[in-house]
Amino acid sequence: MLRQFELVERVKSYDPTADEDAINRAYVFATKVHGSQLRASGDPYFSHPIEVAGILTKYRLDSSTIITALLHDTIEDTPATYEDIERLFGTEVARLVDGVTKLSRIELQSDHAKQAENLRKLVLAMSDDIRVLLVKLADRVHNMRTLHYIQKPEKRRRIALETMEIYAPLAERIGMQEMKMELEDLAFGELHADARASIISRLSFLREQGGDLIGRILDELRRTLAEAGVKATVSGREKTPFSIWLKMQRKNVGFEQLSDIMAFRVVVETVEDCYRALGVIHSAYPMVPNRFKDYISTPKPNGYRSLHTGVFGPERQRIEVQIRSQELHEVAELGVAAHWKYKQGGGRMTDGRQYRWLRELLDILEHASNPEEFLEHTKLEMFQDQVFCFTPKGDLIALPSGATPVDFAYAVHSQVGDTCVGAKINGRIMPLRTRLQNGDQVEIVTSKAQTPNPTWERFVVTGKARARVRRFIRTQQRAQYADLGRAILVRAFRQEGYDFTEKGLEGVLKIFKAPTADDLIAMVGEGMLTAREVVSTVYPELKTAAQKTDNVVALQRKAKAQSERKDRSNAVPIKGLIPGMAMHFAGCCHPLPGDRIVGIVATGKGVTIHTIDCENLEQYADQPERWLDLSWDEAEGASNVGRIDLVVANETGTLSTITTVIAKNMGNITNLKITNRTLEFFEMIIDIEVRDVKHLTNIIAALRATPAINSVDRARN
Ligand code: MN
Repeated sequence: MLRQFELVERVKSYDPTADEDAINRAYVFATKVHGSQLRASGDPYFSHPIEVAGILTKYRLDSSTIITALLHDTIEDTPATYEDIERLFGTEVARLVDGVTKLSRIELQSDHAKQAENLRKLVLAMSDDIRVLLVKLADRVHNMRTLHYIQKPEKRRRIALETMEIYAPLAERIGMQEMKMELEDLAFGELHADARASIISRLSFLREQGGDLIGRILDELRRTLAEAGVKATVSGREKTPFSIWLKMQRKNVGFEQLSDIMAFRVVVETVEDCYRALGVIHSAYPMVPNRFKDYISTPKPNGYRSLHTGVFGPERQRIEVQIRSQELHEVAELGVAAHWKYKQGGGRMTDGRQYRWLRELLDILEHASNPEEFLEHTKLEMFQDQVFCFTPKGDLIALPSGATPVDFAYAVHSQVGDTCVGAKINGRIMPLRTRLQNGDQVEIVTSKAQTPNPTWERFVVTGKARARVRRFIRTQQRAQYADLGRAILVRAFRQEGYDFTEKGLEGVLKIFKAPTADDLIAMVGEGMLTAREVVSTVYPELKTAAQKTDNVVALQRKAKAQSERKDRSNAVPIKGLIPGMAMHFAGCCHPLPGDRIVGIVATGKGVTIHTIDCENLEQYADQPERWLDLSWDEAEGASNVGRIDLVVANETGTLSTITTVIAKNMGNITNLKITNRTLEFFEMIIDIEVRDVKHLTNIIAALRATPAINSVDRARN
């Protein structure tokens, strides 16, 4: 185990300004709070955070990260709290430790390997500070190194799978090549112990046979480069058992046929030297076709830059050679950490701007060559538009950010959404409109009696939830339109002395293009048809008895409506009109006899009649030549249509109360339209045939006296 002074010395060696006192205090605090807890290995628990801190010194990380590593398990596994950490080590460290703790909790919740991609995104989304992710990765490295101490094979396997599918790819994504290889190889040893053992024994057999083959190849490569005047450090190694295994799988070949199991690395001073070294190697040895890759001019999305080539090298061995400069080498091995060091100025944290390297990383990622890879890799702040939550069983559900428990419920299953009555978030009952956070565990409470609530539409964010809620509102609305339509029709039929039956409608369904009697009734309720049109179509003999608009079939409505207006112009005498000029009443203000009126002349359209207080008149204010002074001829004319706005309680029976009140006052509803509805109220527009303004005013007064009605006004636009 790394001792206290050794840890401090290591940090001081790369960062002389490190907060020595705080590191010492964190070391002591961790040993104290973990106390007598033990690891599976039998070691004291506190050896683990100390080793994790040690791993991170290799990446030359700042004091806050090292302290976070020392404290990373204290909130989760000891009595220490966030507040304790904040008080003793400051907000920055507390926030980082909290971040690592949250990541560890996620790990406990899910072991679904198929969700690896979502889990990787979740981890990235939660690591809003990349140091959280670095501590988590180092934690995983140490846990993998000590994995064999864990007794239960299933547990070892689960951890190894998770490492292979989540943590190794994450390490690669942020350019921590060495860490990625170690994680993969350790996981490989657990998941395919036999394969790894046989690869290792095969490797050592080859080593014995070939003598010091790697050493001889190294010597020759060094000599070749030196003779050409290229200053280089050359190293060689066998590939890891895991990468050999991958290659065997990919190429579907046995170990015997696998040639390049050795990789050599040439580290030179500058990028120009890289290309010189490449030239020397290619002219000394035959190149293996299709193996050359220039990641210097076209870096990998994670920022990796090197030249790769394959040659039939010394002793006719197929070898892989990587060529890079010293700086590129450190970036390749240490990932973001090395990048930080370089950008901070030769290893000293001169400007203390600790987040700069994060921006640098994003910069690298942004300039990645392949757009798909870019999307895939440019996370960090990139999944801010998503939120990842768990079901009680540990399934991970990805939702757009801002999603609520209702969205979650619909994402799980439509049925769950439709019957959702409440939600527990992390075990606590919370309002359904609560915005979910990354890592929340959400349990939906359902009831068979529940139906979607129209108010949900105001806060759900997923298309699925919105579509389901809307569909439900539509069917519910239709039921209410049907009730209303029925009430209107019953009254209209009775006025003519008939009983209303659905059966009686069957003969006219085709004319109105209504599939069923119910549809026709709903059309009347929604105001698409007037009751009179229906009555006079069912009983055509009424046509002659009734006035004007009777027996208008749906297909002819438009044309008829125009002629109706013309009829009305004859029936309703207005003084001041030019004889023979077409006129019609404005749809905005619905003038009635008794109203003060003016006409507006439009070329080709005749005169439009407005009430004098109509807002739409403003637009003609500067065209006095178009105004006509008009007044009603007091002669009693035919009925006119007035329009009212109502706000009424959303209760059973309210609509039939309204139709009753209007009928009692001798008004005839010609159109009714619900314009808005909430849980408590309907807003609607009703068109009523009345004699004049006074008649309409009487009806409005009668409606105002009705308890279920909140407000009634003459419609203005
Ligand atoms: Mn740990």
